[in-house]
Amino acid sequence: MSLLVVGTVAFDAIETPFGKTDKIVGGAASYIALASSYFTKEINIVSVVGDDFPTEFMNTLKGQGVNLEGLQIKQGEKSFFWSGRYHNDMNSRDTLDTQLNVLAEFDPIVPESYQNCDFLMLGNLMPTVQQKVLSQLSKRPKLIVLDTMNFWMDIAMPELMETLKGIDVLTINDSEARQLSGEYSLVKAAQKILAMGPKVLVIKKGEHGALLFNKEEVFFAPALPLEDVFDPTGAGDSFAGGFIGYLAKTKDISFENMKRAIIFGSAMASFTVEKFGTERLIGLSQKDVDNRVQEFVDLVQFDISLV
Ligand code: AMP
Repeated sequence: MSLLVVGTVAFDAIETPFGKTDKIVGGAASYIALASSYFTKEINIVSVVGDDFPTEFMNTLKGQGVNLEGLQIKQGEKSFFWSGRYHNDMNSRDTLDTQLNVLAEFDPIVPESYQNCDFLMLGNLMPTVQQKVLSQLSKRPKLIVLDTMNFWMDIAMPELMETLKGIDVLTINDSEARQLSGEYSLVKAAQKILAMGPKVLVIKKGEHGALLFNKEEVFFAPALPLEDVFDPTGAGDSFAGGFIGYLAKTKDISFENMKRAIIFGSAMASFTVEKFGTERLIGLSQKDVDNRVQEFVDLVQFDISLV
């Protein structure tokens, strides 16, 4: 089942209590595509970079089976740049700098060969661009998942609200859920957000796992207690990639299967945070992924018999 991924392909500079990086490769679409490549092989990216972006990383994506026909390369322009600093808890961060560069004038074009995609992952990007991609598809995908962040809520809330009307699943973190809904309780926030359009909501809580809501039910997936967390950047995107990749692989978009999918998403996020940038998501084996998922199963499996 083919998967279309939209999002940033970018440079990041990251500071954590354990170290600091210069410009390294990041971007929502990079993490999503890498994470989903362990589940499905037909992955198509729509994004934009400047002529400063390393071809080496594009070759890495291609090596993972990712199609880059829809990645525009703008000559004489600079790639999107984001810089952030994590607090000591590694769960919260401050954005130090966001330079839109090529993103400021980005006009996404969905290549003809990407039409008929079954799964659409609208990764973190300006809501108008997410919407433009959706409107270029001749057939509505089986499932549309959208990820966004506080930055877009701050500067493009009306456009985001409009985009939310047409999607199936929204993935955001707990503080973004509170910002979007104006509710502190995540249960109340979820019900308000589900009334905005999405049928399913995932609230990511970093090292405290993730919650999956529909109008009637709630399900919880833990995060793996890891000995070393070096860099949480991209954890949310890797989660989204694992989530939608698993759904595309199993071709089952029921709520029951989404419960499994958030475990696969959490497993991919747990790899990402173990190294800086995208490094840990490159060259994993199927066995690595299976073993990691088994660790999640072992973590939460218990026997209780109520008589
Ligand atoms: P995550 O840690 O999963 O929330 O995503 C981190 C990635 O999001 C980084 O690699 C950034 O390049 C990218 N990013 C940061 N800010 C934005 C933004 N405003 N729009 C799109 N992507 C962003």
